Amino acid sequence: MIDVAIAGAGPAGCVAAIVLARAGARVLIVDRATFPRDKLCGDTLNPGALGVLRRLNIGAAEDGLPIRGMLVTGPGGVRVEAHYPAGLTGRALLRRNLDGQLLQAASDAGATIHQQAVVQGAFVSDSRGAVSGLQLRYAGSASSRLDARLVIAADGRESRLARSLGLAAHPRRPRRWAVGAYFTDVKGMGPRGEMHVRPGQYIGVSPLRGGLTNVCIVTADRARLRSGPRLLTDAVRAEPELADRFCTARMETDPVTLGPLAVECGVAGMPGLLLAGDAGGFIDPMTGDGLRFALRGGELAAQYALRALETGDLSVHEELAAVRRREFSAKWRFNRALRGLAGSADAVRLAGLATRMSSWPLSRIIRYAGDVTAA
Ligand SMILES: Cc1cc2nc3c(=O)[nH]c(=O)nc-3n(C[C@H](O)[C@H](O)[C@H](O)COP(=O)(O)OP(=O)(O)OC[C@H]3O[C@@H](n4cnc5c(N)ncnc54)[C@H](O)[C@@H]3O)c2cc1C
Repeated sequence: MIDVAIAGAGPAGCVAAIVLARAGARVLIVDRATFPRDKLCGDTLNPGALGVLRRLNIGAAEDGLPIRGMLVTGPGGVRVEAHYPAGLTGRALLRRNLDGQLLQAASDAGATIHQQAVVQGAFVSDSRGAVSGLQLRYAGSASSRLDARLVIAADGRESRLARSLGLAAHPRRPRRWAVGAYFTDVKGMGPRGEMHVRPGQYIGVSPLRGGLTNVCIVTADRARLRSGPRLLTDAVRAEPELADRFCTARMETDPVTLGPLAVECGVAGMPGLLLAGDAGGFIDPMTGDGLRFALRGGELAAQYALRALETGDLSVHEELAAVRRREFSAKWRFNRALRGLAGSADAVRLAGLATRMSSWPLSRIIRYAGDVTAA
């Protein structure tokens, strides 16, 4: 029997697999996709995320474009640019490349990978109430059962496992949706991420190698998504900060939409199952730290899985929850506060006014969002 079955070969699942396989565990990762696959994301690893990869000696992302800081703009001409301190950088690279490299690293470490395998649910053993395996459907085959001593759910925001077991759900509020696409010929791009916060929406813009620019809009107005590609082009052209820079730009890919974005989850698993990455909750992409949570969350889940394999105690999810709270809760609170602020038109205007008086608090926020202390 395999030791750990990991649902989802995104960053959280791959890092968990690497840590486990390096420690000698028999690991199987299953993913419904065929890699390399695209994923709607701002494509930027902050310095803290990069720090996790380097500490674990995982070379993925090193060929990404160095990102030296962030430009944040707000209503009324607010414009603050802050660099990460002491030469720290993030990296920008296509998720299909980052995730492909992480999957290769998991395979190199000894993990077995099954693609085109859809996780349909978990088996819970009657006697112990513990998860003991997965219900899977391989492309072109009937459903089958996979037994494992332990399961890690790293199957993303819409986690089939976390939802079917009642561990995670979209909260009623806030409800936000994202749409993103790649552009070429955007002027004025530099080695920095950009966040343009306006009442009711924000626009993230990131540079990539090869002259590509990633543009994502997050909005609370779901009806706007119906306008498809026009939503992105209209939004950037209506924005004084961006209009001139996008006047000759071309949208190179069809826009992709996602939402609702927020997922609430108050636990780190249940007996026999540990959560990692977005499957264990997602707040908002505004702070650009989802990948840091996913990478570190994958590492922590693997550490507690190893402990469970060693001791036979399948209830390590409680200890994992405690360590995640200790490590992540200050940043979660910060992200919730920022999400609340960005969701209120009055608060965005007020913050804009305050920032015109002093840019110092916003510079601090940019560095904190970049997880520079974790780097
Ligand atoms: C618009 C937007 C922009 C963002 N920008 C950034 C950014 O710039 N920087 C940053 O750090 N974070 C960003 N994030 C957050 C970041 O994308 C996520 O936090 C990160 O992808 C989480 O990684 P993960 O491994 O948990 O999940 P995912 O990357 O979602 O991977 C989950 C994997 O599970 C697989 N899967 C799902 N369901 C099943 C199933 N039933 N069966 C089998 N396989 C399944 C999927 O195919 C996928 O490969 C952004 C998010 C959004 C929405």
